[in-house]
Amino acid sequence: MTVEQAEVVVMGLGTGGEDLASRLVDSGMNVVGIEPSLVGGECAYWACIPSKIMIRAGNLLAEARRIDGVAGRAVVTPDWSPVAERIRAEATGGWDDSVAVARFEQRGGRFLRGSGRLTGPRSVVVGDTEIEASKGIVLATGSHPFIPPIPGLADVAYWTTHDAIQVETLPGSLVVLGGGAVGCELGQVFARFGVTVTIVEGRDRLLALEEPEASAVLESVFEREGIWVRTGRRAEHVAEVDGVIVVRLDDGTDVTADRVLVATGRSVDFSALGLDSAAIKLVDRHVVVDTNLKAAEGIWALGDITGQPMLTSVAVYQAAVIGDQLLGQNTVPADYRTMPRVTFTDPEIGTAGLSEAAAIEAGFDTATVVKQVPATFRGWLHGPGNDGVIKLVVDRADSTIVGATSVGPRGGDLMGMLSLAVHARLTIATLTSMMYGYPTFYGGIGEAIGAYGRGIGKVIDPDFVPGIRDLPPPS
Ligand SMILES: Cc1cc2nc3c(=O)[nH]c(=O)nc-3n(C[C@H](O)[C@H](O)[C@H](O)COP(=O)(O)OP(=O)(O)OC[C@H]3O[C@@H](n4cnc5c(N)ncnc54)[C@H](O)[C@@H]3O)c2cc1C
Repeated sequence: MTVEQAEVVVMGLGTGGEDLASRLVDSGMNVVGIEPSLVGGECAYWACIPSKIMIRAGNLLAEARRIDGVAGRAVVTPDWSPVAERIRAEATGGWDDSVAVARFEQRGGRFLRGSGRLTGPRSVVVGDTEIEASKGIVLATGSHPFIPPIPGLADVAYWTTHDAIQVETLPGSLVVLGGGAVGCELGQVFARFGVTVTIVEGRDRLLALEEPEASAVLESVFEREGIWVRTGRRAEHVAEVDGVIVVRLDDGTDVTADRVLVATGRSVDFSALGLDSAAIKLVDRHVVVDTNLKAAEGIWALGDITGQPMLTSVAVYQAAVIGDQLLGQNTVPADYRTMPRVTFTDPEIGTAGLSEAAAIEAGFDTATVVKQVPATFRGWLHGPGNDGVIKLVVDRADSTIVGATSVGPRGGDLMGMLSLAVHARLTIATLTSMMYGYPTFYGGIGEAIGAYGRGIGKVIDPDFVPGIRDLPPPS
């Protein structure tokens, strides 16, 4: 066994680990980065980046199909090959991380290919090398697709999200198990390229973690686009019969398709990480960390393994919090109140802070403001593709905005303003007092809360600002 010395060891150079390791190296630290698969991780090769390339292509098709009746006529002929080629050649380099490895090494990082295992509070083994870390060890080992134990599923050639991202030729039909963000995003893309898509979701609506108003908009768009949604139904059995996948649902009905995509969430595997050797605790399949992301003295954890929403935005935020500590910079504990997240369907669904239900559960006395995007100035003139809704959740006690959802064209970016409002604990009065660009999608927020002030919103929406009158007067 070779023994090496380092200041910091980062186990897992995925989204969060690579970010952190690079920053530490750039700051002059002696860092060892360990990665068994691809440097850059899930987001770069199988998740955020390639899926958004697919979504961009699907959105272009949808936008072209909206030309009829607005700007002439368009004949749209989808072709998946440029999408697959962009993902393969431009985004993932053929699922090859040599550029990322070289970049890390050129910065001055020490890279070891393999799976790391803790052997004590200050040591990690990878292959036949042991590294002793003088300042700390960071666990950033991520998650992988969860495959539910549905009888028969293991016997068919199901797709995980990895397969869906790497597909070169599309099937004629697809059943998607799981109506969360990933199932909805990928299902809509494939449908727009001509695949007959059915989404099966066990809960009573798509995107069950988001506001019901958001689910309702998305379900109506999916219905219009010909995506068959089976909510409140669980897959009980899967089989392949004469080359066709048959999914038996719990109401006794069958859904058939050429392929099945399993999008039922993610799971983590801690079995080979040696966590016991450093007394690291697990609860509900995640590493227990404090608000500084510390799992034990000298050991930090970040990303999908920490029990926070599994998002790149979370992983890189946590990487920054840990980096500040390791570099002795102004340390501020992790604050998840804003938790901005986007489901990149069309319409996009941006969310920050608490949903109404979560706010009530957290003990807030809430008021809500809801505005349909087609009833805003910009939404109305946008015409086809304007489906959406804006919802603000307000704490009546002091009129601060504790949560917001924006569904619609560029709904994820609209969330920029609303997540700042949640983060900075802005009051409705502050949002009402500012001037809004006109006519803009974000101006819909102003219309929702009456910021245009002259009641002109009533021309389009007679039920202007439901709920807002219940709020205490601005202070
Ligand atoms: C289809 C899809 C789309 C998504 N889109 C978005 C999006 O648009 N926006 C967003 O914010 N999030 C998105 N996500 C979520 C996002 O990809 C993850 O939350 C993020 O990649 C997690 O980062 P991480 O650093 O925790 O883990 P990862 O990026 O998974 O990296 C962990 C790394 O650790 C390595 N590893 C595992 N075991 C060991 C070991 N023993 N030793 C050393 N290394 C090890 C793994 O090989 C892996 O490379 C999406 C997810 C999916 C599935």
